[in-house]
Parts: sequence; C-alpha cells; structure tokens
Amino acid sequence: MKISHIEHIGIAVKNLNEAIKYYEQVLGLKCYNVEEVKDQKVKTAFFKVGETKIELLESTDAEGPIGKFIEKKGEGIHHIAYAVKDIESQLKETESKGVQLIDKTPRKGAEGLDIAFLHPKSTFGVLTELCEDKNQ
Ligand code: ZN
Repeated sequence: MKISHIEHIGIAVKNLNEAIKYYEQVLGLKCYNVEEVKDQKVKTAFFKVGETKIELLESTDAEGPIGKFIEKKGEGIHHIAYAVKDIESQLKETESKGVQLIDKTPRKGAEGLDIAFLHPKSTFGVLTELCEDKNQ
C-alpha cells in the first residue's frame, strides 16, 4: 500500500457540542465543518492539525456503529484513516494479502471522500480506514 499521510483520526464522543468546546477552547483548534453522515448514523465535526484532521463522531442512533462502540468501550479513539491514491486497487491488494475488509468497494464518507474500512481483527485491533479525495 502507498499511504501519503494520516488523513484523520476518528474520535467517538457522547456530546459533539461539549467536545467541540474542548477542542476549540482548550486545544485552540477551529471547527471548520459539522456534517451529518446518515449512512453511518453519525454527526461529525472536523478540525485541522497540519495535514491531518481530527474527526469527532457523535452517534445519532444508539444502534449505529458509534452508538455501539461507546456503549462497549466508552468515548475515545475509534479509527485511524490513511490517505491513499486509487483506493479500489489498494483494497484489492490489501485483500490479496489476507486482510479482512469491511468494505470491499469504497463508499462515500464525510467531506465527499471515498472511504473503506479494514477489519480490526486483521489490523492488530485498530479500525483502519482508507480514504481518497477524488476531487483533488
Ligand atoms: Zn473516518
């Protein structure tokens, strides 16, 4: 795989507005986008830290993936997203190396990126997202 940088770190929070306050008032970052991703049953807030972003995730449905994550593990780091080019062939190559994929083909994530997840069983416990900005 060829990764250019960490695109974002996804962090599960119970209350997006409370968490935004911490990131802005304590860490001094600026929230530049809040977006609901219906497909994932989440509301997201984004901050830039250099080339990498912090993506806060609040569940909009207790049965959604973030709702279940928080119920099981509490708030905290949920996933790491790597920026790649040609995500389709990266997925094929990754699968051919024996890694279990959650998404065999990319889908649309927040900010219009094409995203796909690798299963944490195959990645030493880290839910891993690949993403590609095809608008670039
Ligand atoms: Zn993400």
